Amino acid sequence: MRLQLSEDDRAFREEMRRFFTTEVPEEIRQTVIEGRELSKEQIVEAMRVMNGAGLAVPHWPEEYGGRGWSDLQRHLWYDEMQRAGVPPPLAFNASMIGPVLTQFGTQEQKDRFLPATANLDIWWAQGFSEPDAGSDLASLRTSAVRDGDEWVVNGQKTWTTLGQHADWIFMLVRTDPEAKKQRGISMLLIDMSLPGVEVRPIELIDGGHEVNEVWFDDVRVPGDLLVGELNQGWTIAKFLLGNERVGVAPVTATKRALARLKEVAADVVADDPLARARIAELENELLALELTALRVAAHSTDGEPHPASSVLKLKGSELQQAVSELAVDLAGPGSLASGADDDSALASWQRGSTPRYLNLRKASIYGGSNEIQRQIIASRILGL
Ligand SMILES: Cc1cc2nc3c(=O)[nH]c(=O)nc-3n(C[C@H](O)[C@H](O)[C@H](O)COP(=O)(O)OP(=O)(O)OC[C@H]3O[C@@H](n4cnc5c(N)ncnc54)[C@H](O)[C@@H]3O)c2cc1C
Repeated sequence: MRLQLSEDDRAFREEMRRFFTTEVPEEIRQTVIEGRELSKEQIVEAMRVMNGAGLAVPHWPEEYGGRGWSDLQRHLWYDEMQRAGVPPPLAFNASMIGPVLTQFGTQEQKDRFLPATANLDIWWAQGFSEPDAGSDLASLRTSAVRDGDEWVVNGQKTWTTLGQHADWIFMLVRTDPEAKKQRGISMLLIDMSLPGVEVRPIELIDGGHEVNEVWFDDVRVPGDLLVGELNQGWTIAKFLLGNERVGVAPVTATKRALARLKEVAADVVADDPLARARIAELENELLALELTALRVAAHSTDGEPHPASSVLKLKGSELQQAVSELAVDLAGPGSLASGADDDSALASWQRGSTPRYLNLRKASIYGGSNEIQRQIIASRILGL
């Protein structure tokens, strides 16, 4: 592994740094850096600025907007983006359905969806999980039955992140109820504005609205919106889930959050050796994780992510949570004032620490729960 950047790579990094810190609106970056919630418009604007410069989907095949970069260049791109507080390209578009369509989609699907997906003209949602089908995804029950030229879809998806903003949803559906459970699943693309699609919000413990239930009641979907072969959905899902895990460990964003915490809580930390030791330990662990991220990037082949992506997901989520827990501890009683507004004498990092801590409990569940990642690490990396 190269730890020393070549002159070209250093120049590349400078170019990325300049772009992200000068071309993406300051207001969007400050929202991210201060840990406030981004609006839909801000997420769309950031992705469009990047796409305009060919920086939204550099990992796609070149014919669809990819850049043919080395793994290290891609790492630097992602790293500098997070360092500057730029929201990463919407994962459902850039890391999930985009690569799936380039690999498994028909030419018509590629032409129709890929440019709009890269530019966030279409906002995608991920419709995999259902009640009783999360970790055990193959138990999903939402059905699609062929009727003439169309599919008729019935069922319920859950935990659909930002589904309230979505235009389209990529779905796993059961197309052969008789087959062994993994073999009877297909992937469909569904326009969320079709009659029979209903999005219902799920209220979260931090008071936010981030996830939804999505219900399908006799939704009629054109037949040409099946992705890949009939009953090939499980293979496509495995391809997609591996990519998802790589994206859920925002190492640099966690480093940035820790560095900012150190800055804003300097007076609390100054005389507290225990807090200082905790920060030093987290910094070291983040450095180790950064090296793992490089290893995953350097060893992913043919679009198949390296199994170490599970280590990245596991450790990345644990460190994200540990930093948020430190913030609550450093905020002290001020962490209880999450309902206070900007007139409060308490700093916003203190007031925001509890909702953020509570929100980040999700990180060990989504993208494949950490217990499942441990099983993948045990069997595929350690050979146990
Ligand atoms: C905030 C958030 C956003 C999400 N966004 C989306 C989305 O946009 N689209 C989507 O499709 N899904 C989404 N999900 C769903 C997510 O992928 C599932 O929640 C996850 O896969 C876990 O499934 P489950 O909730 O059914 O829990 P379960 O599978 O019921 O697990 C419950 C507990 O049991 C453990 N467990 C389960 N099986 C095993 C096993 N074999 N061995 C050891 N332990 C086990 C789990 O690790 C967990 O601790 C989201 C989830 C959350 C929390």
